[in-house]
Amino acid sequence: MPFIPQLAVIACSITLNYKTRKHKSDNAEALAQAKQILSKVTDMVVITDSIGKIVLTNDSFKNLSGYSEKELLERNIASLITFSILPGSKDIRRGQIIAHGNTFIPVDISESRIYSKDSTMLGTAYVLRDIGTVSKINEEILKDDALTKSLSDMNEQFKELDKLKSNFLSNVSHELRTPLNLMISSLKLSAFKLNQSNGMVDPSLIYKHFDIMNQNCFRLTRIINNIIDITRIDAGALQLNLSNNNIVEIVEETVLSVASFIEKKGMTLIFDTDVEEKYIACDLDQIQRVLLNLISNAVKFNNNGREIFVSIKEASEIIKISVKDSGIGISPENQQLIFDRFIQVDKSLTRQHEGCGIGLAITKYLVELHKGTITLESELDRGSTFTITLPVYLVPNSIAKRVSPFATLNEKVNIEFSDVI
Ligand code: ADP
Repeated sequence: MPFIPQLAVIACSITLNYKTRKHKSDNAEALAQAKQILSKVTDMVVITDSIGKIVLTNDSFKNLSGYSEKELLERNIASLITFSILPGSKDIRRGQIIAHGNTFIPVDISESRIYSKDSTMLGTAYVLRDIGTVSKINEEILKDDALTKSLSDMNEQFKELDKLKSNFLSNVSHELRTPLNLMISSLKLSAFKLNQSNGMVDPSLIYKHFDIMNQNCFRLTRIINNIIDITRIDAGALQLNLSNNNIVEIVEETVLSVASFIEKKGMTLIFDTDVEEKYIACDLDQIQRVLLNLISNAVKFNNNGREIFVSIKEASEIIKISVKDSGIGISPENQQLIFDRFIQVDKSLTRQHEGCGIGLAITKYLVELHKGTITLESELDRGSTFTITLPVYLVPNSIAKRVSPFATLNEKVNIEFSDVI
């Protein structure tokens, strides 16, 4: 009897032995006892006499089948339950309750025949288990398991992000402290020299310190601008101010503005374009910023005496701008990380040069805001080529912008190139 509860069998026995009792009152008492016992059984129980007529059921069966006691009593079990053999089991059969309203409820059925002392078959106790509910419960358990797993995965991801943010903060703090320290030292030294010489100090010495302070103010501005922009990106508040501009002119002007700086570093900047003029919808300030980020990186990581190429190519409905250096290159595994903020703030990647490693993340975001893409081809010790592809389209009612609202191109160059040392 795999899942026939003993209680059901006892109830069955009490019920079916009523014929042997002498008095009606004994019968009633036996039935009441059996009902009481069956009410304790959570599975559905149906008790039939020897020819299959139902003599007793419990509340679980009535509730699920939707029939009242009156509708069930005296009814033949065959009109209420269909039976089939459950493969691999002699004792349990699979079947369906034909419930009220002709709906079918799949059940596992375990049955036990009840015999009198003289071995006459008195009837059968059927215990039914709703497998629909069981499989629903299993499904719910599986869903719960999946939910618990995805919550714990999310928790891990949050922990990882938290770690990255902490690394980023400590890196940024270091980046902020370096220019600040240099400025403080320059200030102290200038004050010391002025004190020592009663104000009769060589002006070139003071100008040298002014230059250091100036340069480091730009470095601080760059770091703070980048942090503010990352925050604005997160808040979805970094929007483009689109106007129709000649992209060739923008690139050329930007290249010219940094040419002398690059030459001072002993490098040559070569500009090449296969198109004279091309108007596209873009944000002038942000495109200049993207170009300055790519060119300043090319200078930072180029080898001395080498060239930097900036080129423009036109293809169908797109403009490709490439910045190529022949410097240290980027390993394949770091090429995957290079555009991710926080992650790229890897000591081995950034420590040899100043910067907090969010420039390229902002550049990528700005290019994508323009509905463009940025790609990288690089080989260690051979150099890198960053290519941005911008779609050619125009916005209506555009007034081409020539002057940056916040800084002139020179100031932008000073800021973007502040950590090229
Ligand atoms: P930052 O904001 O500090 O300037 P970026 O996001 O612009 O940083 O660049 C992140 C890192 O990517 C750099 O620290 C450097 O390791 C690598 N990188 C970027 N451009 C180049 C390049 N042209 N050649 C080699 N490495 C580069």
